Amino acid sequence: MHNKHYYKSVLVLGNGDYSLRVADEIASLGCPVTVAMSSRTVRQTSYANDANRRLWSPAKFLDFSGQAGNFRAVFDANNGATKEGLFGCVVIALECLWIPSLNKWGMEERKGVIGLSQFLQHFDSYAAEITSKDKVVFVCGFKHNSWPITQEQIGKKAISLREKTGAAVYVLTEHFKVAAKGMERLIRNARESGVVFVKFSKGSPEIIAHEDGVRIKYFDEALGSAVQMTAKLVVIEDEACPPSEASLVARFMEINTDRKGFLQGDLIFNFPILTNRTGIFVVGSGKGPISDEQAETEIKCVTSEVAKLFSYFDAAPEVPLARLDERKCGQCLTCLRICPHRAVSVYSEKAKPQISAVACRGCGICVAACPMKAIELEEYTREMVFPELDRISEILAAEASNSQPKLLVLACQHSAYDAYLLAKEKGISIPEGVEVHRVPCGGRVDLEQIMRPLLAGVDGVMVLACHHDSCKSVYGSGTCEGRVRIMQGMLEQVGVDKTRLLFGTMAPGSGAEFVALIDDFRNYLTAIVSRAPVTSIRA
Ligand code: SF4
Ligand code: SF4
Repeated sequence: MHNKHYYKSVLVLGNGDYSLRVADEIASLGCPVTVAMSSRTVRQTSYANDANRRLWSPAKFLDFSGQAGNFRAVFDANNGATKEGLFGCVVIALECLWIPSLNKWGMEERKGVIGLSQFLQHFDSYAAEITSKDKVVFVCGFKHNSWPITQEQIGKKAISLREKTGAAVYVLTEHFKVAAKGMERLIRNARESGVVFVKFSKGSPEIIAHEDGVRIKYFDEALGSAVQMTAKLVVIEDEACPPSEASLVARFMEINTDRKGFLQGDLIFNFPILTNRTGIFVVGSGKGPISDEQAETEIKCVTSEVAKLFSYFDAAPEVPLARLDERKCGQCLTCLRICPHRAVSVYSEKAKPQISAVACRGCGICVAACPMKAIELEEYTREMVFPELDRISEILAAEASNSQPKLLVLACQHSAYDAYLLAKEKGISIPEGVEVHRVPCGGRVDLEQIMRPLLAGVDGVMVLACHHDSCKSVYGSGTCEGRVRIMQGMLEQVGVDKTRLLFGTMAPGSGAEFVALIDDFRNYLTAIVSRAPVTSIRA
């Protein structure tokens, strides 16, 4: 049965003090917050449970289910007992791991060669052993494996080392990132304090530890030759790795990760703290290293999102954007599997699926996938869509002559339809014989939306969705492309040229590109139409 009670309590998952700070801020909203940690940290000993805050530690993730307003989480409390709770939302505040990447040079940690995090942790004792006659080399900035945050730490510590010891300090880098706030100034200050920045290329430096120091050989890009130097201490940038719990949490909660395993994934719409699931937020470095300043901003940001979600619970609609007709449902569970936002649940083996009113985002991917046509989007029903497509087909038939192709564009409202509106706004004229129909998401497009216009005499259908890596419905665009391919195969089987159906992707700000694309397709169709007139498609 659909549960319309929404809990206004928060689960914070953490592995360090950052999660406690997140919990403190959210608790200030007056809602109960539970922090669950798999292992103990220093501040926990003094963490005071009160009416709004409780700490479960150690608490190892065992199970997770439900949707926003009704999440159920179960933990192993490490003594055979389990702890479980019902939560309105979840904030994942796991911090990333910094692992020394010494093995990239075939080296183990040894005297004179250390990872950056170790150096930062024991900075004073390392600095105490350095004199003005020594040389210290930081090695960092390897392509694809470097973060502004570590380079900022290196810049600051290089300055401090110069000031404290007077030693010769080098920063050996392949690619120093200056995109972060204040970095250009930091490098300038470091140079002024005597830190030498050297760019290496043609592969990683060779670093060999000897009794009398560490020898570094590298190719100096500015000199155009190989250079060798010996240092007392070499500090190597650490590699940022996803939190050890990240893959388990992502699997249980069905949230996306990026290729390296960091939480959240690379979807632009979710930055900075949202995920593919309503009511599950990610803050801090568990989604990739960020500065302390950003991490603090995200605490404010998530607190405001939690407040927004809880006030939305008070006004949540009775029915979801996608309505499921249980009488038609054959319980194949395709909708459950395909929903990118995990808005579909089955509460018991025999029960029909339920769509959550707060978690459904109305993409319509389930609508197009349901074999029983048991789901409808409230604002885009078949009853609305088909007459509209028939009307458009009639307009096209009336507008265009037989020698001029008639083209229907099914445009995703998050990308191509915006591009179309932008083109109109800029006064770029849409070619004759073209009509544009807005779809909620590329993933909503199904066979009928394509076949109906073609059977009514439209010469070509172009489906334009978001670029795959910026699809608001995560894989709506990919689902759409797959469906278009299947439909092209079906068209071929009934003797219709499959190239009359085209799939493309588009960014919302590409007004001119939108018009250029449809113009190209229209020109292409002109040749096709002259070879095989519209009547042959109808047949
Ligand atoms: S996809 Fe359709 S038929 Fe299958 S379970 Fe969902 S609603 Fe029922
Ligand atoms: S419309 Fe989209 S978000 Fe809603 S249940 Fe269907 S697939 Fe999920």
